[in-house]
Amino acid sequence: MGNIEYTSCNIIEHGFDAQINQINLCCRTSKNNIDKYVLIDNYHGQKIDWDDFFRKTNRLREIQKSGNTVPSCEGCIYLEKKLWNDENYINTININNWIKCNANCIYCDRSNFLKEKEYKIYPIIKDLINKNLLRNPADITIAGGEPTITSDFDKTIKILVKNNISTIRVLTNAIKYNKNIELGLKKGLVNILISTDSATKDTFKKIKLTDAHNKVWKNITKYVHNQAQDNLVKTKYIIITGINDNQEELNDFVKMNAASGVKYAYVDIEVERFMNNINNTEYLKRLYKLYINTKETGEQYGVKIQAFDRMKIAEEKIN
Ligand code: SF4
Ligand code: SF4
Repeated sequence: MGNIEYTSCNIIEHGFDAQINQINLCCRTSKNNIDKYVLIDNYHGQKIDWDDFFRKTNRLREIQKSGNTVPSCEGCIYLEKKLWNDENYINTININNWIKCNANCIYCDRSNFLKEKEYKIYPIIKDLINKNLLRNPADITIAGGEPTITSDFDKTIKILVKNNISTIRVLTNAIKYNKNIELGLKKGLVNILISTDSATKDTFKKIKLTDAHNKVWKNITKYVHNQAQDNLVKTKYIIITGINDNQEELNDFVKMNAASGVKYAYVDIEVERFMNNINNTEYLKRLYKLYINTKETGEQYGVKIQAFDRMKIAEEKIN
């Protein structure tokens, strides 16, 4: 036991992804697009046997220690060689099991699962905290559906904030303002990411199938006013070819951020179109150029634009 140097990632070592009906290892897009690694199948909120859980993750850890790579992780940009603490505890969780949403984004598959019964995440978090298995520095991502409309959300974020777990990232569409997010932003424990994917009312509606452009940017501005540091409220623009892949809208997105006081924003590529074009260099180059131009516009307006997930992969593949 102790700190050993090898190539791995925080999720393999100390994490999991709470998905609809399953506890998986991870939800990130690796270059090979191999099926996600399932840790607990048919999961519907039953009590987790952590000894059994760690037995499974330790098998993955052993693969990494041996110099090989877990198949679903091959080529992943998040793998890094460093000293890893091989104690059994959790510090990285993706909460992805919530289904309901007050938007209806055209690239989102959540609505296919509306018949599923959501399990509660709060008891899992409480159990981990009670057993001293959830440790800082942590990286908790609360995604969805839309977290703020889920009955479990307020309790979950409160217990995390109360126990000073940091960081807590909430992926919200900001259609509904949430006071517990505000409190977490004030304390500097919570950061939020809002994908507007647009800068105008029309494009917002085309993508989200909801008329909430004004409300969202008003709430973004309010969150910005309550953040303890200028990097806690970030926005994202997912490029969807044929819908919002134009430079004018991306430049206007930068201006909207500047007007709302947002200092950091990401540009990403919509997952399905990306996967269909993963080896299409012309496609990747065109979208990457949009990102680079947006980055330059950001420099003029004091908004730092960064590549996110698929755009990072595109960047690696092109350069
Ligand atoms: S896919 Fe990447 S981020 Fe996910 S567990 Fe594997 S190496 Fe880590
Ligand atoms: S806001 Fe998020 S969860 Fe809701 S429809 Fe859009 S992508 Fe899906």
